[in-house]
Amino acid sequence: MLNELKFLLDSKTSKETEKFGNIYKLVSFIKKEKIFPGYEVFETAGTEPIVRCGGKDILMLSSNNYLGLSKHPKVIAGAMKQLELHGGGPGGSRFLCGNVEILEELDREVARVVGKEDAITFPTGYMANLAVFQVIMDPFMSGVPYSKGSGVIFSDENNHATIVDGCRLSTAKKEIFKHNDMADLEKRLKKYPVSKHKMIVTEGVFTLDGHFGKLKEIVALSKKYNCILMVDDAHGVGVIGSAGGGTPQELGVVDDVDILMGSFDKTIGCMGGYLAGNKKLIEYLRVAARPYMFSSAVPAVLGGGAIESFKVCASKEGSALRKKLMDNSKYLRDKLELVGFKILGDGSISVLPVIIGDENKSIVFSNRVLEEGVYIPCFRWPAVPKGQARARVTVMATHTNKQLDRVADAFEKVGKELEII
Ligand code: PMP
Repeated sequence: MLNELKFLLDSKTSKETEKFGNIYKLVSFIKKEKIFPGYEVFETAGTEPIVRCGGKDILMLSSNNYLGLSKHPKVIAGAMKQLELHGGGPGGSRFLCGNVEILEELDREVARVVGKEDAITFPTGYMANLAVFQVIMDPFMSGVPYSKGSGVIFSDENNHATIVDGCRLSTAKKEIFKHNDMADLEKRLKKYPVSKHKMIVTEGVFTLDGHFGKLKEIVALSKKYNCILMVDDAHGVGVIGSAGGGTPQELGVVDDVDILMGSFDKTIGCMGGYLAGNKKLIEYLRVAARPYMFSSAVPAVLGGGAIESFKVCASKEGSALRKKLMDNSKYLRDKLELVGFKILGDGSISVLPVIIGDENKSIVFSNRVLEEGVYIPCFRWPAVPKGQARARVTVMATHTNKQLDRVADAFEKVGKELEII
């Protein structure tokens, strides 16, 4: 298929391709080959265990609404109150007119739950990642305190695309270390003097691999080599840690992480993102982070919902939901492994990366299980290594055992049909 694609890209230009090159042809090709990413239209919220799709009830297995908080009554009430008070959008950035009280409360609530002095919030987690590397690694004002290109960012090879994009906005040199490989990271750190301006960035939870980032070991290296340490905990906040504080809380390294990034779009069940750290760092980010200054604030409606969601995460109810989630995850893992599926990870997180293997087979797998009433698009190269396409099964605390039985049955049936198991 890739050869065919090359031929397509090399083909001569026509009237249609004069302006946009082969873009249209590429899209037609992707559609013809049925490799267009799954793009189902849901008639009900895609965050719930059962969604209405094409007039049918379908089991949702790919929502990041891990604890089911998106539709929690307190979250809805918190959002509704702000919606009535402030309307749909903020009308500008925090500096212009968007700095309504509730957002100051949101910043404080995020900082409280993740265990940092302060936090700065953005309309998406993507924007937080776009903001951070440039301002930390590059000069704020003409070469002060660092000259351009003088820093180095050490980034795990499996880090999320939004980290990759954020790093691209910085002039710092990039060292990509092998996934969770401390020997490779240290080998790269050794190349630079201790005085060099350096930053290590990893994820707290690698959902496609099914395990945590090696935060304890990375903390030790960041201290030894005098590096700023940043953790993207988009998939950890709210769902990991004794009080939902995230992966650093679970692994006991909150004070050792300098910059903690997260998203409101997953466990928190709303939308938005944050960077948390000490007061001085956050003050600096408020005057230096471009997406914070030049784009509109988090809408109050989402801020109001997120605050309530954070409160639930940090409460007893949050602990009970986290337990239910892990019980559900183990229940499905055991069933799938019993019939022969290979599942990555060490059981420390709820997400189950189920190996399908071949890219094309993974597309057929998703389509077939959908016919069986289960929605689970697969991740394929380049998101994961070639030949290791996988279904990232995101169990939710709100799934019932009966629903998970149906998922296991559908996987077994289609898995046998396609000779995956
Ligand atoms: N980091 C990670 C690890 C993510 O998975 C995502 C979202 N998929 C983001 C950052 C971006 O967060 P958001 O969806 O809030 O933009």
